[in-house]
Amino acid sequence: MNNRNVLVTGGAGYVGSHACKALSLAGYNPICFDNLVYGHEWAVKWGPLEKGDILDRAQLDHTLGRYQPLAIMHFAAFAYVGESVIDPGKYYRNNVCGSLTLLEAARDHNIEHVVFSSSCATYGIPNKLPIVEDTPQQPINPYGTSKLMVESMLGDFSTAHGMNYIALRYFNAAGADPDNAIGEDHDPETHLIPLVLDAASGRRHDVTIFGTDYDTPDGTCIRDYIHVSDLADAHVLALEHLIKGAGSQALNLGTGVGFSVREVIESAQRITGLRVPVVYGKRRPGDPAALVSDPSRANEKLGWTPKFRELDAIIRTAWKWHQKQASSK
Ligand code: UDP
Repeated sequence: MNNRNVLVTGGAGYVGSHACKALSLAGYNPICFDNLVYGHEWAVKWGPLEKGDILDRAQLDHTLGRYQPLAIMHFAAFAYVGESVIDPGKYYRNNVCGSLTLLEAARDHNIEHVVFSSSCATYGIPNKLPIVEDTPQQPINPYGTSKLMVESMLGDFSTAHGMNYIALRYFNAAGADPDNAIGEDHDPETHLIPLVLDAASGRRHDVTIFGTDYDTPDGTCIRDYIHVSDLADAHVLALEHLIKGAGSQALNLGTGVGFSVREVIESAQRITGLRVPVVYGKRRPGDPAALVSDPSRANEKLGWTPKFRELDAIIRTAWKWHQKQASSK
């Protein structure tokens, strides 16, 4: 195969940049397409950057024509759940209309394979745990709905135009590149692990636990934290599965093990050797008590298993990255 170009929308973002690294290590040429609204130019290290917006059809046509990629990995999206409730139009325009613009461009440039960054937010509040791919998808916020709408569009484009796709529904992406070249850097930051590390290092005063009265063993929410490099590896495996002729499908990506907010804080204290000052707050609206994946289908179809199995190992990479960031700011 001569053409190793893969268009990576959102390739300057957190998961997208780790996917660019994994693609490059696997011998592909990641072409990062990112508007740099939330992405970072410094995170684009493994291929060219095409600055552009997925809502800009002309720019997409130009980039697809120039590189003629064999596939698209589609990460570009707004991803603040709370903001999506307050400003749904922003999410439907960018995540849904942007994806539609991208898919129409992909169709017209005869792109055969799409790997899509979907989310466990498409399930909403699951009726039972662990969550399998056939668990009903009933999102409870516009962010989750926008991801589900794109899955539906992919299904229809796949049927109509023979564009095969794999939608990867990730649980809680966490950690940083083990070589410490890239990592999580959101502004504003809303995710638990970086906030806990900020509180440990004194970059922020404390971290608030959102709710201690959930129906869980210690009263705090349980999530399935999956290392970002494991997610990246799954994207490459999904791409290769499509290239070999796999049909369109959706797969969960998680470890299958859940940890409570308190357990995350305890782990961070162990790894950093520092105390994490905690404030007890109210529940955050829209937070299900527990989200834990059953990742066995991804294992079966892609031969994928997470390399980072322990929460401590995930947080250790996040802490290394946190320290590097702190020393450079
Ligand atoms: N959380 C918390 N305090 C914070 C941020 C998050 O207690 O400052 C909790 C949140 O309620 C959820 C878990 O930590 O149960 C993970 O939240 P995060 O925002 O990292 O990811 P999400 O599950 O929303 O995708």
